[in-house]
Amino acid sequence: MDPVGGGCLCRRIRYEYRGEVGPAAYCHCEDCRRCTGGAFNVGVRLEAAGFRVLLGEPKAFTKTADSGHSLTRHFCTDCGSPIYTSSPRHPTFVYVKAGSLDDPTIVKPVYQSWTSSAVTWAFIPSGLSGYEKGRGNQGLESGGNP
Ligand SMILES: [Zn+2]
Ligand SMILES: [Zn+2]
Repeated sequence: MDPVGGGCLCRRIRYEYRGEVGPAAYCHCEDCRRCTGGAFNVGVRLEAAGFRVLLGEPKAFTKTADSGHSLTRHFCTDCGSPIYTSSPRHPTFVYVKAGSLDDPTIVKPVYQSWTSSAVTWAFIPSGLSGYEKGRGNQGLESGGNP
């Protein structure tokens, strides 16, 4: 099986994974909203034994989650990208941020949690205006601007 690669925005942190890619889940909890800067987190469960940081050294931040269990979030200190989360309660797994994967098509979401704290803008209305690329000079597109 070919290894799966991933890493942060500035590429100072790179990881690889050998093994079966586990289920992915959306999390709408407030901690995930804050640490991703987005509406929710998408985490992909991987076997810790097959996960290895190849390059760089992510910084770890540990906090007690709303669930009452402590979670450690690992991120790049240079570009700030969140990379993965680990939990002493589930030491055989790591949960990588879905967007950090080189090939995001392997992500298979199977459930969402903490929907009680989901924000209304976590769900994209079907009628929302869409642009195949940036919107131009309006200042709110991604891929270069905020
Ligand atoms: Zn980085
Ligand atoms: Zn969460």
